[in-house]
Amino acid sequence: LLQATAVHKSFGDVEVLKGIDLTVRQGQVVSLIGASGSGKTTFLRCVNLLEEHDGGEILLDGDPIGYRDIGGKRRRLSEAKVSAQRARIGMVFQQFNLFPHLTAGDNVMLGLTKVLGKSKAEAREIAGHWLGRVGLAERRDHYPYQLSGGQQQRVAIARAVAMQPRLLLFDEVTSALDPELVAEVLGVMHALADAGMTMLLVSHEMLFVRDVSHHVVFLDKGRIAQQGRPADVFDNPENERLRSFLGRFH
Ligand code: ATP
Repeated sequence: LLQATAVHKSFGDVEVLKGIDLTVRQGQVVSLIGASGSGKTTFLRCVNLLEEHDGGEILLDGDPIGYRDIGGKRRRLSEAKVSAQRARIGMVFQQFNLFPHLTAGDNVMLGLTKVLGKSKAEAREIAGHWLGRVGLAERRDHYPYQLSGGQQQRVAIARAVAMQPRLLLFDEVTSALDPELVAEVLGVMHALADAGMTMLLVSHEMLFVRDVSHHVVFLDKGRIAQQGRPADVFDNPENERLRSFLGRFH
């Protein structure tokens, strides 16, 4: 479903991604782990076209993301095409990013009506369904400031998944939460994974990563230093830097 090959990204002189090869298959949960600054967020942002990678290729369902090849030359896609690609990928951020002046229900409905062109009635029904799935059916008329951080993040997840993306990206979505609110958000993500949603996530919740992932990728200074099944990565860290990284969580 997602295939990245030799993805490079630099900011000025700093090469942040130094050739990332990564595949996410339909229904898989793939997790990126690694120290701060290793490039995890930058990679997610390249997948979602919030950054433009400057080398290599990212294919979503076989289509190159952000550009197309014309006679071997890379041409940027038009904004309309970029928007259409973005609609196939959902993203949930560390800082919920809800619209503060809209209720929970309206936050979920907005993309459905504005981007997918659904009627208000249909959008309302879909929003109600997904708010229910994240356990917030009773909160649809609440504004973000009336919700806890964990509830806001669950609204953000409902908003992303209501768009029926092919792939859902999660960027450290529990890092800004009080510890007692983390479990409710991880529980929602687990339920989505169990329902077959294809997910690529960055997380520092190692127990969760181990439990939910089909494949774990350890990034170190812009390169993949080790990857594999969770048991292999966590129980047999061959890479010295991975060993020391995991040591911090004990
Ligand atoms: P964290 O866990 O702290 O989020 P990360 O692994 O996600 O870390 P990135 O956020 O991808 O790391 O950042 C990788 C490097 O790229 C960092 O050194 C960061 O300072 C740099 N960087 C990220 N975005 C920009 C930008 N827009 N301009 C310049 N440098 C950037």
